[in-house]
Amino acid sequence: MGVSLHLCQAGPASCGACCGQYNFADHSREAVTSELRRHTRALAEVPRTREAFAEAARALKAAAPSPLFPLVRTCPLLGFLDAAETRVGCLAHPLVTGGPDLRDCGVYTADTCETFTCPSFIWLDDGLAGLVRDACADGYVYGLVVTDVEYVRGALDLLTRALCRPVTAEELRQKALPEMAALLRLKADAPGRPAAGRVFGRFEHTGGEEPVLRTLDARALGCAPAPEDTLVLCLGYAPDSSEALEAARAVVRGAVSSVVAVLEGEGTCRA
Ligand code: SF4
Ligand code: SF4
Repeated sequence: MGVSLHLCQAGPASCGACCGQYNFADHSREAVTSELRRHTRALAEVPRTREAFAEAARALKAAAPSPLFPLVRTCPLLGFLDAAETRVGCLAHPLVTGGPDLRDCGVYTADTCETFTCPSFIWLDDGLAGLVRDACADGYVYGLVVTDVEYVRGALDLLTRALCRPVTAEELRQKALPEMAALLRLKADAPGRPAAGRVFGRFEHTGGEEPVLRTLDARALGCAPAPEDTLVLCLGYAPDSSEALEAARAVVRGAVSSVVAVLEGEGTCRA
């Protein structure tokens, strides 16, 4: 296991999750875009010097929304790399400034920024990473998906179950990319989830500094556990009734069925 692709800037896909891209109670596309746009516009006119960037970073940070998880830093130097706002990245990186490395003006040292790799570099392989890159080339969706290995692997597990045979990332990329994109994109657009609040995917802010891993007790809601429940949690659903749980499962099942329908005839166990 392990990936050789550069996950952070992977062709058309880009991520800034470890720079705090989503670390706000309201981490909707609109809110995240608005914050990144604020950084980008403010830094566009700032001279490429340490003093000027540090001062601009302080001002941006002072006006930023509170982080959802206080222990996870949110960097004011993260922004959009292109005018169309499709690529997310570090505005203090030498390739972006045109020379000086100004990453020390952010929330970590430049060395930390340069060398950090998130757990996805270990837990994804090139096949899965390539699938996510090709299915989620969107500056908001990609970071949500590429950092949630449990969701990606859980999606493949559900497909394997439904098809009664192993399914590979390469097969999905070749034969069902739009449908797979819709399944992965649920991380960004699954309906019926709580609006801005304390939940981010599998994690929750319970008042402490660190994210707390959530669990789902289906039996307490009057339901038997189901294979979809991992994805239900990863999507940020927090069902408080059997109806809410079944509705969330139905969203997952619908997207899985669309992939299966395309692959049917390749060897499915469905009647
Ligand atoms: S969260 Fe992972 S993939 Fe995303 S920018 Fe950080 S190291 Fe790269
Ligand atoms: S300075 Fe570091 S933490 Fe800030 S956006 Fe750049 S890479 Fe991310």
